Amino acid sequence: MIFEIGEKIIRVMKAFKEPRIAIKDVVKEPAHKSPIFRGKHKIRYDICTGCEACAKICPVDAIVMEPLPIKRPKALPEVNLAICIFCGLCEDVCPTKPEKAIKLSGGDIEMIVDNPSHESLSDWWVRAEVPEEWIEQKKREEEEKARKKREMMAKKKAEAEAKKKAEEAAKAKESEAKPEADAAESESQAASEEKGE
Ligand code: SF4
Ligand code: SF4
Repeated sequence: MIFEIGEKIIRVMKAFKEPRIAIKDVVKEPAHKSPIFRGKHKIRYDICTGCEACAKICPVDAIVMEPLPIKRPKALPEVNLAICIFCGLCEDVCPTKPEKAIKLSGGDIEMIVDNPSHESLSDWWVRAEVPEEWIEQKKREEEEKARKKREMMAKKKAEAEAKKKAEEAAKAKESEAKPEADAAESESQAASEEKGE
């Protein structure tokens, strides 16, 4: 009996030293390892097309599109976690492949807020951090693309004008040649008529 009690005491003391199962699961095996875990969103500014499908499908209007000073993406989604219900529809509808530009549990899984207050919880947003250099690079690429497009359009226009001019010149030549041919034909007709007399 005394031996059993001693054994229980040792077991309880050992249990106090060891982290409890729930703590062990959370700390050593974070929830993001679960294939069905839905955590905070991760927004990939570099592959997002700015199509707004995620914002349109969100059932609680938790997504707003924040404009960018470039053409594609012209805006990026920002998610208000204070009203998000973590349904995952935004991720499902996102058309980018093979990676989704918006992905739940793709980012930081930490949901604890320091010193929560009404203000901090009502302004709890997930935003993509877009580097300024990336924006500048995209602007340069878009300018270059626009320049090439302008050049191509100018070339096509010049080609079309040259073709039109060539056609007009050919027509003019043809109309100059026609009276001469007609005159020659009338002369030969008159000559044959004279012979016939
Ligand atoms: S998970 Fe659902 S509620 Fe949250 S932002 Fe996406 S679509 Fe909206
Ligand atoms: S995250 Fe996806 S669905 Fe949302 S705007 Fe970007 S590409 Fe479209």
